[in-house]
Amino acid sequence: MARAKSSTSTKETPAKPVHSHAHMPKPKVLFVASEVYPFAKTGGLADVVGALPHALLKLGCEVAVVMPKYKIISPEKYKLKYEINGLAVPMGMGDLNADVLSTRLGDTHAKVYFIQNDRYFDRDGLYGTPEGDYQDNAGRFAFFSRAVLELLRALDWYPDVLHLNDWQTGLIPAYLKTLYSDQTSFKQVKTLFTIHNMAYQGLFPKYILPMTGLRWEEFVHEKLEFYDQVNYLKSGLVYSDAISTVSPTYAAEIRTDEFGQGLQGVLNLRSSDLHGILNGIDYDEWNPATDKEIPAQYTVKNHDRKIESKIKLLHELGLEFKAQTPVIGLVSRLSDQKGLDLIAEAIEPFLAMDVQLVVLGTGDLRYHEMFEALKNRFPQKLSVNFKFDNRLAKLIYAGSDMFLMPSRFEPCGLGQLIAMKYGSIPLVRKTGGLSDTVENLSPEGKKGSGFVFENYKAEDLLFTIRRAVEAFHQPKIWKELVHRAMTKDFSWDASAKQYLELYRQIQRK
Ligand code: ADP
Repeated sequence: MARAKSSTSTKETPAKPVHSHAHMPKPKVLFVASEVYPFAKTGGLADVVGALPHALLKLGCEVAVVMPKYKIISPEKYKLKYEINGLAVPMGMGDLNADVLSTRLGDTHAKVYFIQNDRYFDRDGLYGTPEGDYQDNAGRFAFFSRAVLELLRALDWYPDVLHLNDWQTGLIPAYLKTLYSDQTSFKQVKTLFTIHNMAYQGLFPKYILPMTGLRWEEFVHEKLEFYDQVNYLKSGLVYSDAISTVSPTYAAEIRTDEFGQGLQGVLNLRSSDLHGILNGIDYDEWNPATDKEIPAQYTVKNHDRKIESKIKLLHELGLEFKAQTPVIGLVSRLSDQKGLDLIAEAIEPFLAMDVQLVVLGTGDLRYHEMFEALKNRFPQKLSVNFKFDNRLAKLIYAGSDMFLMPSRFEPCGLGQLIAMKYGSIPLVRKTGGLSDTVENLSPEGKKGSGFVFENYKAEDLLFTIRRAVEAFHQPKIWKELVHRAMTKDFSWDASAKQYLELYRQIQRK
């Protein structure tokens, strides 16, 4: 498995000798992201940027985080303090203003900064409403990106590495390599751009370019231009000093036509700067031994207590509890990426089996409609919950026997990692991070931590569900399987060390 590789690079070059860094000062890192747990979250990105800084602090790095101040972030709850009033942010059409607020990251001394501009961020959603994306996202995230650089100038604090995440931060390396290139204080500031999902690129009509402040000479095929549009993700890939993505397998996949989403050429040009580092999960947050949201805490030693969560979950959702019927959880964005079209194709024979399916998620309207219609036909087998709800998510991880994640593509995936920790056996397709983290149950049942199928076909999904249900009815095999899944270690420690090593590599550039 790719996870076993010690190198973070996708290249097959021999590993460089490991130097002792014991006496080197640890890099100063600023994380820049559009969502950070617990302040604002729509998916795995928030989990990663909420957790990785903690792991790096433990390794001795100086860390700070910056994100937009959305409406849902309560100043009272997070004790936000004004850091800077009226920071001037030069945009193409003149200066805009940002206020900068701050708080502490958890109970650490590290700071989280919030860029506040009510016109851009005082809205209900992060990127849009259920009806669609906000029309001014190009302006919102160009402004955010530029404000981050102006914040550093105002603080007179220059990190060694700007750790940027996804398209919302993609213009930052472009600004650094153009408008800021002759500012001496920024000369030593290097950028690492992390891709959490190639499918979201921040594509905008070219007429927005002057608003960003960047010049038309950047709007060429080698740089920002992508089929006559401005592509913020491409900007991150082209101008950053190094690129990473969130699993070794996805790092290799995105260089191919099938997964590159049109940017495989750019990634191949930068293959020597492209790294794959697997996400971890924060076991302080995701741990059935300490989870207050579930009725009975448990560890690998007494995981039969999961049954209390199963009873509570089914009761709460109005489904009858039957110990012998496996409950299958699905906590996910309801989109094609997550395999929802495959589930749609397989759903009738799937629900004809003796199973109960519990769905929590929001997403494409057609999947809302599909589940809504099925609910009436299978009232005792299916519960659908169209909302974003952390508490219910945890009860599903704890109260389900299996966790369904048949993604078409998956950069890393956190659902399967959380599920394993809670003893819910993942049922996944062999792609991206799923293939790096879930091992198929061996034929004799002695090895593996889940059920894995390869081809993106409804019949293969169904075959795998059947295989899982059969294994569920073999108590000894199932118990050992749960044991192996729960004892897998996907904590951040190992991955944070790989990031630290990568920061050092970038600093030497
Ligand atoms: P994504 O591609 O959406 O980022 P990941 O598997 O990497 O997928 O991360 C998804 C994260 O969001 C997990 O922590 C999962 O539990 C959570 N999540 C997804 N949908 C919901 C929901 N409707 N309610 C609560 N949590 C959710």
